[in-house]
Amino acid sequence: MEQIKNEMKMEFPALSSNEGFARVTVGAFVAELNPTVDELADIKTAVSEAVTNCIIHGYEQKGGSIWIQCSIEGQQVEISVIDIGKGIRDIEQAREPLFTTKPELERSGMGFAFMEAFMDEVEVISELGKGTCITMRKIIGKG
Ligand code: ATP
Ligand code: MG
Repeated sequence: MEQIKNEMKMEFPALSSNEGFARVTVGAFVAELNPTVDELADIKTAVSEAVTNCIIHGYEQKGGSIWIQCSIEGQQVEISVIDIGKGIRDIEQAREPLFTTKPELERSGMGFAFMEAFMDEVEVISELGKGTCITMRKIIGKG
């Protein structure tokens, strides 16, 4: 029998109090793949960075909605974090380590670098004034 793809979708307001909720929820969803402590920590950190970016940059702390879509196929987990906020002017530059547009908020410009280090693939789709969709993939159990 063909394996049924497992997926979940969630929507929540762009409040920093929801960062923990988002990372724990995604962590619980991927638990069926039996990730190691390290794999689970990597996924949670990547989700936190993406969600924080929606709150701080996408919506500039003025609220709005964040969507997370998550799916599991075989050993691969795919997580999309979406906002319909400001968007990114120059994606290539934004992904560079240490680049930040908010030095005044003491951001260090390392969010994308962490996402890339902790996940196997990170895809960024963004349009100015329309929003941003970050899709991250990771194979669990590579050893
Ligand atoms: P840090 O994550 O270390 O606190 P940072 O958030 O500035 O600092 P990154 O997470 O690497 O660093 O993001 C780099 C830049 O990309 C941000 O400064 C911002 O300009 C842009 N950016 C990232 N995510 C979004 C988003 N969802 N909407 C709009 N701009 C974004
Ligand atoms: Mg960031």
